[in-house]
Amino acid sequence: MLSDGILKKGNLELLSYMFFADECEATAPQITNALGYGDKAAPANAALGNLGKRIAKHLALEMPERDKKSPGWWQVIATGEHKPRGFTWRLRRELAEALIELDLLIEPSSFDYPELAPASVSIREGAVTKVQVNAYERNPVARSICIEHYGCSCVVCGFDFEQKYGDIGKGFIHVHHLRELASIGTEYQVDPLKDLRPVCPNCHAMLHRRRPAFSIEELLKQLVADA
Ligand SMILES: [Zn+2]
Ligand SMILES: [Zn+2]
Repeated sequence: MLSDGILKKGNLELLSYMFFADECEATAPQITNALGYGDKAAPANAALGNLGKRIAKHLALEMPERDKKSPGWWQVIATGEHKPRGFTWRLRRELAEALIELDLLIEPSSFDYPELAPASVSIREGAVTKVQVNAYERNPVARSICIEHYGCSCVVCGFDFEQKYGDIGKGFIHVHHLRELASIGTEYQVDPLKDLRPVCPNCHAMLHRRRPAFSIEELLKQLVADA
């Protein structure tokens, strides 16, 4: 893609920003802010539209003409929806998968997510433990690739939320990143199958009970036979 001239300066930053944003969603002003283009929407609109157009031309995609002036090339990159915070793009899943596969993602720490959750957020597990959930563990695409492969039950204790809670538990599980992001150089790119595992919140909290985290194998050895 790079050698074909499809990706221009700033495009990978733009795509990576969207990838790591909550639910892979962002508004144009959020993108321009984060990438340092100021707070106007125009640069993000232009970048997304032009990139979409280059990809569409390269793949000979036909765009349904919305109107003559603006065929809406951004739709190659994202879906769009009006939300209270403004028109919001959601990075297309196929593109998000390609970014993982082609190792094109730029680490989330290089961006500023002022309106969104920080790259690493703490979520409370009961009153006792906090678990650091990194950007890959929260990313919906990386998560669903992991869950599609390993299923939705905990790889440590086997807990299955749907089995226990019925419908409301369906699809609920944490995803644990096997490698500590802090110990990984900037070269590192996530491999959802190699590096992520579904774990229940209890086991997740126990994995992070030590720093660096326990391995899955270590935690399995800790399990008390009859508990
Ligand atoms: Zn578990
Ligand atoms: Zn974890």
